[in-house]
Amino acid sequence: MSNRTLGLSDRLYDYLLSVSLREAPILTALRHETATHPMNQMQIAPEQGQLMALLVQLMGAKKTLEVGVFTGYSALVVALALPPDGKVVACDVSEDYTAIARRYWEQAGVADKIELHLAPAIDTLAALIAEGQSNTFDFAFIDADKSNYDQYYEQSLQLIRSGGLIAIDNVLWSGDVADPAILDTRTTKIRALNEKLHRDDRITLSLVPIADGVTLACKK
Ligand code: CA
Repeated sequence: MSNRTLGLSDRLYDYLLSVSLREAPILTALRHETATHPMNQMQIAPEQGQLMALLVQLMGAKKTLEVGVFTGYSALVVALALPPDGKVVACDVSEDYTAIARRYWEQAGVADKIELHLAPAIDTLAALIAEGQSNTFDFAFIDADKSNYDQYYEQSLQLIRSGGLIAIDNVLWSGDVADPAILDTRTTKIRALNEKLHRDDRITLSLVPIADGVTLACKK
């Protein structure tokens, strides 16, 4: 018994998956294909995807945002959890990564739910705001270049409705954020955003130590 968050041994992590993971075969296939990709560490963990699907379902979300698509696992897991008229507005800059994503979205029959914008996410989010889509999204997932995390958070916060949720990935950054000797740009940016979120009275929050750390921020 423990009243603090456990560190997971490999054995305990395997156990967690064995008694809780319900991954659709199309997601498993995408995860296995992405595992052979040189940037495979950019894919979210399957138990994290399952948590995001549960949150989207629980919220009755219909309109969601994704900043950082990579090979499409997170957009797919969310799209599968959305109702038939649900929509994922997805932002990425890579034709190559998202070509894999599109193939799986087609196979899964959810391609029509996912609107992919191949452009810098800051520009796409600014355009959504300029079009009057502020306060209309239910859920946002931020998992892209860490140097722009603060800007993605600010724009997403504007785009989601009151009571909407932003999930921010990699907030524990393999533990580097807790080591004051590590001062590279990405670690510093994540650390600064974590500290800002802690104080930000526009949201309520929970930092969930799942996968590489996911902060859930609910807009007041
Ligand atoms: Ca990530």
